[in-house]
Amino acid sequence: MVEEDSGMSNRALASVEAGALVNAIRHGGKAEVGAVIGRVLAEFPELRHKADEVASAVRSTVAQINKMSLQEQEVMMAQKYPDAERPAQKVGRVGLPPLPNAVKGKTSFRLPPEPSGFMTVGHAMAFTINSIYAETYDGELWLRFEDTNPRKVAKRYYESFRHGIKWLGIRLDHEKNVSDDLDLIYDYGKRLIQEDKAYSCSCSEEKVKRLRFEGQACSHRTAPVERSLTDWDLMLAKKVGEGEAFIRLKGDMQNLDYSLRDPNLFRVIQKPHPMTGDRYTLWPTYYLANTIEDEICGITHILRSSEFSTELQRLIREALGFRTLDVIQFSRFNFKGTPVHKRLLRPLVEGKLVTGWDDPRMPTVDGLMRRGVIPETIREFTLQVGYTKSEHEYDWSMLLSLNRKLLDPHSKRIFFVPDPVELKVEGAPKRSVTIPYHPEVDLGEREIATSGRFFVSKSDLAILKKGNVFRLMELYDVELTSDRGEPRARYAGEEVVREMRKVQWVTPGGIDIEVLEPGLLFDEQGNFNKESLGVAKGLAEVAFSSLKLGEVVQFPRFGFCRVDAERTCIMA
Ligand SMILES: [Zn+2]
Repeated sequence: MVEEDSGMSNRALASVEAGALVNAIRHGGKAEVGAVIGRVLAEFPELRHKADEVASAVRSTVAQINKMSLQEQEVMMAQKYPDAERPAQKVGRVGLPPLPNAVKGKTSFRLPPEPSGFMTVGHAMAFTINSIYAETYDGELWLRFEDTNPRKVAKRYYESFRHGIKWLGIRLDHEKNVSDDLDLIYDYGKRLIQEDKAYSCSCSEEKVKRLRFEGQACSHRTAPVERSLTDWDLMLAKKVGEGEAFIRLKGDMQNLDYSLRDPNLFRVIQKPHPMTGDRYTLWPTYYLANTIEDEICGITHILRSSEFSTELQRLIREALGFRTLDVIQFSRFNFKGTPVHKRLLRPLVEGKLVTGWDDPRMPTVDGLMRRGVIPETIREFTLQVGYTKSEHEYDWSMLLSLNRKLLDPHSKRIFFVPDPVELKVEGAPKRSVTIPYHPEVDLGEREIATSGRFFVSKSDLAILKKGNVFRLMELYDVELTSDRGEPRARYAGEEVVREMRKVQWVTPGGIDIEVLEPGLLFDEQGNFNKESLGVAKGLAEVAFSSLKLGEVVQFPRFGFCRVDAERTCIMA
């Protein structure tokens, strides 16, 4: 992320160099300054207001790169930026790269959540990418719950994903649970055993682990197929307990990738499943189920985060004789100070450090909704940042500032005075002012009757001195006549002076409210940030009571806030 005021970030500078290399290699060794600037600004739109700085960085980098030979450039590119994508035509409104082998009308994509936790912004972004591609290529989109571990899945998580996907406005063509397909998956499993590609192993888990580490096969691997088939039937008949036997794929016990050393395909789990109850106890592993389902659903393109092993999936696919798919992996969508990992978030909920999974500091979709993030923001943000193969942490502030920009035309302006202090104005004309809720967009208006008593913010008064003239926003000017003890002012005319300080105000009868200000959950060291939830108390004008629950308003000179309860707002 680019720091607001301290020049270009390392990531932006790396992009300048990568961009110069890409452009040079494409043009026989000589990069063009203009093209590189364009590329950098497209990648970092927030640098547009620092175009001069970008231009000068690009000029000096291009000069250096152009001194190198084409061959040297290629070596540098391969060493430093192996993942830098060559610029290509973009799809979507702002830009995702085109997909390989994608034929319009003949593509199929999937959103495969495991319903073992609440939907987060990371899921939302990955789903958005799939959904944009499905739109672009006129493809089918599946929602498929990967629910083959009864120990992890729970009904409320299915709902969380359905709800989040609906909120995002993603159009689905199909929805299914993998747990509905177990009989079909068993057919494939049995076939693998019959074809001597899988076997039943009753070694202890420790032994399997040790042999896997040593690269040694156990005796079960070479036992006759009939023995495995007998075990298989016993497993299906629920005559085998948990941990007593596994079905393993004949992989490669010497492969450097341990996940390929005869991975498990099926295991017994005796916990009842939220969808199928105790009907099944033999459950396929994630990779097996996922591979079979991709085939059944006719998926053509897999776009997913890179913690999944492509090799293991390829091994299973080959054993089953399935066609190959296009797999595009990207790094998980992580946010600085607000990780999306369940293992980091769960202790916060369990330890009551946050109020729940929908706490506005949480990166869950429910948390985002409560702080007024709108679905358009997720889509726009995803299109802007795209995806990368290399690890990357995104910045909340960037997402939130985009959100505020999108909220602006729809949000009423309402006066809110934090930390209010009464200000008496001598000679104040009695007025009834009509103030529109938005300066440019017609969102209606309200009428406020004023006399000589106002509430203004303590912090505004603190920087004013006796004799200073300031404007009560949308009303008139006043001059501070006393800055000690009870602050006092006098009416000072109507003239609108551009540079004059403008202060929001509330008349007596305003509503006491509380504004929660969510911050980052973790500090730089990865510890829970105890200051992560600020609270501002103050007075809102009477019109506040006409707002709907869930409505987002802008408190001028304070911020955008979503009405979360009758007298509580959350800063967006
Ligand atoms: Zn064994």
